[in-house]
Amino acid sequence: EGLVVSFGEMLIDFVPTASGVSLAEAPGFLKAPGGAPANVAIAVTRLGGRAAFVGKLGDDEFGRMLASILKQNGVVDSGIVFDSGARTALAFVTLRADGEREFMFYRNPSADMLLTEAELDRDLISRAAIFHYGSISLITEPCRSAHLRAMEIAKEAGALLSYDPNLRLPLWPSPEEARDQIMSIWDQADIIKVSDVELEFLTGENSVEDDVAMKLWRPTLKLLLITLGDKGCKYYTKDFRGVVESIQVKPVDTTGAGDAFVGAMLRRIVTDQSALQDEKKLREILRFANTCGAITTTKKGAIPALPNEAEAQEFLQRV
Ligand code: ATP
Repeated sequence: EGLVVSFGEMLIDFVPTASGVSLAEAPGFLKAPGGAPANVAIAVTRLGGRAAFVGKLGDDEFGRMLASILKQNGVVDSGIVFDSGARTALAFVTLRADGEREFMFYRNPSADMLLTEAELDRDLISRAAIFHYGSISLITEPCRSAHLRAMEIAKEAGALLSYDPNLRLPLWPSPEEARDQIMSIWDQADIIKVSDVELEFLTGENSVEDDVAMKLWRPTLKLLLITLGDKGCKYYTKDFRGVVESIQVKPVDTTGAGDAFVGAMLRRIVTDQSALQDEKKLREILRFANTCGAITTTKKGAIPALPNEAEAQEFLQRV
């Protein structure tokens, strides 16, 4: 069965012990392992698929803790490198009263930003059936070059490339720079997933209508996905397009919903790539991915909330 190799950052989110407070007002914080590419790798293994993570962590207690979380979840860890001179990245995250998340990052620079081309596990990357990545690893050198090289290695070895930009504006020098860099690797990807918010940012238009989404379409793409929160997702391929609604849940924490969605989608596509040309199969996969995203919102945190196959099937049966 095909291997999903996920490239990028893994870090610790510190989340307030009380809800609806600002970072300054938070009485205390809990550690929540995260980083979208790492979440996606775990989303895949939890659903019974094979996944590896490639990235750099600090050679400190937090870095070792994160590596052991990947290992405990059955993620292949041979692509992880430890930096003895830099710390594992931290982010303080709070959900404001208006429901938006507020981030404060500690990356000065953090270990994930220091991965070099020479440190890449080329053998592992070459074994990828799907190579998945975000855009945070594009922000600074030397990680940016390592990211671009890893994409090349995977592509040369015949992997499908999967891209979820995961916009984190405060990490970029400017919005223009974020947009330019995110778009600079657009044409390499086979599968791209963006959220409705990212669609708006990248196109400059406040709408999720097809004509706006099509601005992100390229003939090089096999699948473009727009996630719509509780409304599910839209899909675009060269031959067909449509909407798949999500299931109804009572969300308590939406962190990781997008990563659960991507992990579930990749876990299915890696076993049956023909779904990219078969609308019926693709819609079934997206119903499954929506369900996995929805389940993730019903529990606190990202990694603890990612469903296994039995849970996902149970929810699918219920509706
Ligand atoms: P993240 O919050 O992790 O950055 P995102 O913005 O990339 O996520 P969302 O659109 O919030 O992604 O969620 C991904 C998918 O999860 C949605 O397309 C949907 O299928 C499912 N989902 C998210 N929130 C809900 C919800 N409240 N009810 C039902 N399904 C949901």
